[in-house]
Amino acid sequence: LETQYDPDNIFAKITRGEMPSVKILETDNILAFMDVFPQSKGHCLVIHKNSQAVNFLDVDQEALSDLMTATQKVARAVNDGLKPDGIRILQFSGARAGQTVFHLHFHVLPVYEGVVVAA
Ligand code: 5GP
Repeated sequence: LETQYDPDNIFAKITRGEMPSVKILETDNILAFMDVFPQSKGHCLVIHKNSQAVNFLDVDQEALSDLMTATQKVARAVNDGLKPDGIRILQFSGARAGQTVFHLHFHVLPVYEGVVVAA
């Protein structure tokens, strides 16, 4: 698996405001924003702003706890607002697993009856 954190990855740039994003929730530690290529209506991503974790395997417990709490908050908001038929929480660790941005992130992917989602 990729282990080297690149401080100039796209999501790091988003946390620093060097790249635009459509923000959903922001705290001192957390940012949730819309996925630029949504697989379904409401597809968004949750990241830690102050953790240099590349993937799920190397995140420390405190950052993971912040991330999971925020991911649940976002999933509940998506559920209340968009009324999907289900929600997938996805995390890809390693390029071979489908990871393309090497700053740990969780996908909140709403699923709707009759709509096929790829990821
Ligand atoms: P991964 O495959 O690494 O788990 O997911 C990366 C996700 O980030 C993909 O769903 C992709 O559409 C999204 N993404 C890639 N570049 C950008 C970007 O510049 N802005 C936003 N908002 N999403 C991005």
